[in-house]
Amino acid sequence: MLVLFLACVTPEAPLTDEAIGAAVDVAAGVDSDRLLTSIGIMVAAHATEEPVIVEPWGLPHRHLAGTERLVDLYAELGLAAEVEETDEDGWLAKNVIVELPGTSAPDEVVLLTAHHDVWFTGADDNSSGVAVLLEAARLFSATEHARTIRIVSFDHEEVGLLGSLRYYRDHADDDHVAVVNMDAVSFALHDPGTQSAPTGFTLPDVADFAVALSNAPAERPARMAAQLAGELPHPLKVQVALGADDNLYPGTGDFHRSDHSAAWTAGIPGVFFSDTTNFRSPYYHTEDDRIGTIDPAFGRSVAEEVIALVYALASETQPVGEQP
Ligand SMILES: [Zn+2]
Repeated sequence: MLVLFLACVTPEAPLTDEAIGAAVDVAAGVDSDRLLTSIGIMVAAHATEEPVIVEPWGLPHRHLAGTERLVDLYAELGLAAEVEETDEDGWLAKNVIVELPGTSAPDEVVLLTAHHDVWFTGADDNSSGVAVLLEAARLFSATEHARTIRIVSFDHEEVGLLGSLRYYRDHADDDHVAVVNMDAVSFALHDPGTQSAPTGFTLPDVADFAVALSNAPAERPARMAAQLAGELPHPLKVQVALGADDNLYPGTGDFHRSDHSAAWTAGIPGVFFSDTTNFRSPYYHTEDDRIGTIDPAFGRSVAEEVIALVYALASETQPVGEQP
């Protein structure tokens, strides 16, 4: 497989000490209690909704109660979320969008994304990602950034990436300079033998790291992620992998299993963070994906990493592949 683990190559330093310091300062605001509380609130909201059994998976799917609760949670932060509805082919999808305008390059958009639809009540997959969106919105609304930060929670990821496919289709004219997507970011195990990997792919044996997968245009953002991970208030173990081209060859099918896929296909630089779900979690897509299985310390480190990376990307104004 044509995948390069950045950890194995000569380290490069795309960010200055000053840029790292500014990004880490913002990330230091991450509140792990708030993250865990948000996950619990989203799980509880999903539990109030009568699920729809979706074939061919035969699993109970929920999305509407979570959509409403997420809008309320943004309102509690003083932020007005826009719900972008599409109703096509029998699938009503509601993407939830919060936009935090940039100061000097407001037309340039850095996207931070996750999905809020779930199988069962989805604590790790993906209320954990939604909790980071909320924390990011809270922190970024209190900071200045050159570029606009657009925080998008997609609907219907689980049933074929419908929400994100429609978003990237309908926003094709927007200037998306980079995307950071999260799907399942708060499950970890700490014993040897707890991590497996896709065929042809090598990962550490202990399931206590995040993966950050990038397409080729996101090589520099991926290196930024590698650089930031060790500088965070709570450093993150991260396996940064750079796929060749846009990862559009069969061996990287597992790389396309979330909402960054349409962005990669469009050539938008994108980095995807995940705990690798079924390659470590016995609870993946089951009713046991519950709040009690979340690893709060791991989730906090991923939140710090993602927020630092998005802030760094939004603070620059040169093309993301170029050094400032
Ligand atoms: Zn997911």
